[in-house]
Amino acid sequence: MTTPSKPVRVRYAPSPTGDFHVGGARTALFNYLFARHHGGQFILRIEDTDQKRYNPQALTWLLDGLRYLELEWDEGPDIGGDFGPYTQTERLELYQKYCHQLIDEGHAYRCFCTPERLAQVRQERQKQGLSGYDRHCRNLSAQESAARADAGESFTVRLKMPLEGDITVTDAIRGDITFQFANLQDAVIMKSDGIPTYHLAVVVDDHHMQISHVIRGDEWVNSLPLHVYLYRALGWEPPVFAHMSLILNPTGKGKMSKREGRAPDGRVLPVFVRTFQELGYLPDALVNYMATVGWSFDDKTEIMTRRELIERFSLERVNTSPSTWNYDKLNHFNGLYIRNLAPDELADRLLPYLHAAGINADRDTIRRIAPAIQERLTVLTDAAEWVDFFFVDELPEFDLNLLVPKKMALADVPPILRAARNILAQAEFTHDALDAALRQGAKAAGLKPGQMFQPIRIAVCGKKVAPPLFNTLEVLGRQTTLKRLDSALARLEK
Ligand code: GLU
Repeated sequence: MTTPSKPVRVRYAPSPTGDFHVGGARTALFNYLFARHHGGQFILRIEDTDQKRYNPQALTWLLDGLRYLELEWDEGPDIGGDFGPYTQTERLELYQKYCHQLIDEGHAYRCFCTPERLAQVRQERQKQGLSGYDRHCRNLSAQESAARADAGESFTVRLKMPLEGDITVTDAIRGDITFQFANLQDAVIMKSDGIPTYHLAVVVDDHHMQISHVIRGDEWVNSLPLHVYLYRALGWEPPVFAHMSLILNPTGKGKMSKREGRAPDGRVLPVFVRTFQELGYLPDALVNYMATVGWSFDDKTEIMTRRELIERFSLERVNTSPSTWNYDKLNHFNGLYIRNLAPDELADRLLPYLHAAGINADRDTIRRIAPAIQERLTVLTDAAEWVDFFFVDELPEFDLNLLVPKKMALADVPPILRAARNILAQAEFTHDALDAALRQGAKAAGLKPGQMFQPIRIAVCGKKVAPPLFNTLEVLGRQTTLKRLDSALARLEK
């Protein structure tokens, strides 16, 4: 990587309009990795100038999502910093100042066209195959423009773009991109209520916050000439731009959905960060996976710790073509990260998910059973169905036929359970001792081990999906085990 000449300061600048989508999270992640790689600053800025689309919950989703992913920011609306405030609606005076300057220096003009006129113009131009505004107010004299504004007439401010020629911008991911001015509009930079549009606000803020690199989604490529023109008009040096390709749906067709779906097997296909969290994706696994969506270290290494991602990240290896989101691969990563957790950490991670599922789990029990289910978890919420039966006084009523081993009948079950009860009343409740005692007991009763184990498992768990039997019994303990065997026997005798 060529070393940047200025101190690295990058920003993630979401608009709080809705839920925090993984697409945005990936943009945040690439900014974060770039900043950390260069020992620079990662800044969070809230771009809320579009008040019509403002959603008050969005900020909470965003901050919670970034915290869950452990993408710590160095400056931001909640923690401040030397370049604040970090919310655009708190910086309106600054934008107004530069808007006036642009008007005074002839780079922008007031547009007094009413919304009705604009709609009519748009319609007429559409018929002629043209788009946008007809630049009606572009050539008003400075005096007339000022006089109408002073008289209280409502206006927006538009950028006075060159009418011909072109502009070339070097993108750190895409290389040189050339735009023809003839294809561009005189974009509105200030609305009639004195609130700037994104274009003016983003340029003013990136300059004032000394942003060195703008790393963002490629939906903003078309705004590049406008932004670079604004830098020129204001006499500022533009930052380095880097536009990341979009993420495609798992089918490879179309932009990744803005809505959550379900897989054929019923699993939720999350797209919002809070849903990934709710389902129990580990932040490191999701971060690792997201980093591989549109970036690669080499052609083979995929599993990387956060530290490795930071060490290895570079804009040069960000893809120029779109990348496909792959839930199977993400699930594989998550399962792997879960299996790598130490038992204590796994227990700590699982506990809040079990509580959220309404299971009255205690840490000690979870800590003891966690290693036995670790292999079976794709996401942390999978644990609930493996362990719920540990934490109830009475099992929910289950189908007694589940107790019956293959090729046997319901009538065969009570003697097996009674034999098991006798063994378990004596046995030492440790994994290996239980294993030995029950195998021996089965043999003595003329049964195959499975013929004894199945009725016990169902009687104590109430279902087939459960951790391995001896781990289960060890953790349940003698008292609960015997109580559940008795209760199954009582139901059988009824
Ligand atoms: N506020 C813009 C968004 O929500 C940010 C674009 C940029 O990074 O310049 O996507």
